[in-house]
Amino acid sequence: MSASRHLSPHLGRPQPDAEPLIWLSRQPTGRERVLAWTCDCRAVYFELIQSGGVAFIRKTIQNERGHVIFETHRWPIRHAWRTWTAVLTGQIRVDGRGGAVEPSGQ
Ligand SMILES: [Zn+2]
Repeated sequence: MSASRHLSPHLGRPQPDAEPLIWLSRQPTGRERVLAWTCDCRAVYFELIQSGGVAFIRKTIQNERGHVIFETHRWPIRHAWRTWTAVLTGQIRVDGRGGAVEPSGQ
């Protein structure tokens, strides 16, 4: 495995007082533009996606049967970026309601 595979960020460990992100099932969207993403070497990875004037975070769980996808509510883009940064730094936790149990071993 080459180091270049890990150019994208990995999630930080959630802080003790981190608020959980609410996950919804996948919503229909128009044209999508991926603004940022985490490294997909983990079983669960995240993307910040813009569609029209809003943005949201998509969570993809890779397992042997394929991909399971959850999405957040749609937000104004500036708010979505703030939330994305909070997720990366562990200020918001991503294992909350609606999400599946994530594999350990990180
Ligand atoms: Zn990685």
